[in-house]
Amino acid sequence: MSENTERIECLIIGSGPAGYTAAIYASRADLKPVMYTGLQMGGQLTTTTEVDNFPGYPNGTDGTMMMEDLKKQAERFGTDVRFGMITKVELSDKVGGIHKVIVDDSKEIEAESVIISTGATAKYLGLENEQRLIGGGVSACATCDGFFYKGQDVVVVGGGDTAAEEATYLAKLCKKVTMLVRRDEMRASKAMQHRVMSTENLEVLFNSELDDVLGENVVEGVRVVNNVSGEKHDIPVMGVFIAIGHKPNTDLFKGVIDMDDTGYIITEGKSTKTNIPGVFAAGDVQDKEYRQAVTAAGTGCMAALDAERYLGSLN
Ligand code: FAD
Ligand code: NAP
Repeated sequence: MSENTERIECLIIGSGPAGYTAAIYASRADLKPVMYTGLQMGGQLTTTTEVDNFPGYPNGTDGTMMMEDLKKQAERFGTDVRFGMITKVELSDKVGGIHKVIVDDSKEIEAESVIISTGATAKYLGLENEQRLIGGGVSACATCDGFFYKGQDVVVVGGGDTAAEEATYLAKLCKKVTMLVRRDEMRASKAMQHRVMSTENLEVLFNSELDDVLGENVVEGVRVVNNVSGEKHDIPVMGVFIAIGHKPNTDLFKGVIDMDDTGYIITEGKSTKTNIPGVFAAGDVQDKEYRQAVTAAGTGCMAALDAERYLGSLN
């Protein structure tokens, strides 16, 4: 072990709801966890303002404040929270093996157990005004933000199952939902397409793309372009939901940890165990179905319990 190497019992990668909840449980179990937060300290919720659906906040809370509270709670039990990015991993495939990781291309950590909670990133189109108005009417999560557009008109971009699900969910809350699908057909399953087409206040515009998001401080409308005719028209809306897919943050583990064909980490049965002994995955990085803060927190708890049992079984 070189001078720059540190040996620890439990390493937590990522500081979203999954990572912090794992940290609370792991530190209370005396695993003396070390957490590396990554560049987005607090995770995805720090990119939103109001969080209305996390249990325990009767009046809702602010995403950044909620993550700050979770950090303090994890630190209260002794979690060592460090700002840094894991840039390389060398995982042992042996039970009781030591996992080596590199932080910020320099420091080496040797860990007896590792909890991966690196989350997922919603894909956006990359339009300038779309980026500027994230949190001001542009969202990538209808379950999270749909409530704020009750009785309003909104647009959903995308034609896959996620877009179909978001659009039908929003149709129950909003006055009118317009779906922009870039091809002349949807990618979504037939069942979801049927659900979309049979929803009265949901209109699908095919061959249609988001050209621009209109509004100074908040969304006031969208400019839509028909990619066949080239014609553009504006629709006044208060909300724009981008639903063109998510990318799990798993590049670091490619070829080492088993993943499905979209890059989500595969966990064993109801546990958070990966194919590598002593390495567990929690939160959005292993969940393309639910993708909520509370479900991420739930699997974070499970990962810490799984790590505790794994380490206990080695003695
Ligand atoms: P994330 O929150 O994605 O955190 C991942 C963490 O991993 C980050 O800290 C990142 O820095 C770190 N990381 C990544 N790579 C590395 C690396 N190589 N080394 C070290 N660290 C790394 N859910 C709700 O329940 N309610 C809501 O109201 C709600 N609103 C949302 C609003 C928006 C705009 C978005 C985008 C999502 C919203 N969600 C909401 C979904 C929710 O944020 C996620 O389900 C949840 O944050 C997932 O938690 P996680 O811990 O798995 O990962
Ligand atoms: P997806 O299947 O990859 O669909 C993405 C959609 O966004 C497609 O319609 C795609 O158009 C469109 N798109 C991508 N980039 C775009 C861009 N730059 N501009 C405009 N449109 C763009 O992703 P997903 O819908 O998130 O689904 C991911 C996986 O989860 C799928 O396997 C899906 O079946 C599954 N899922 C299932 C359910 C369910 O069963 N209830 C719910 C959600 C997700 P093109 O078709 O033209 O490429």
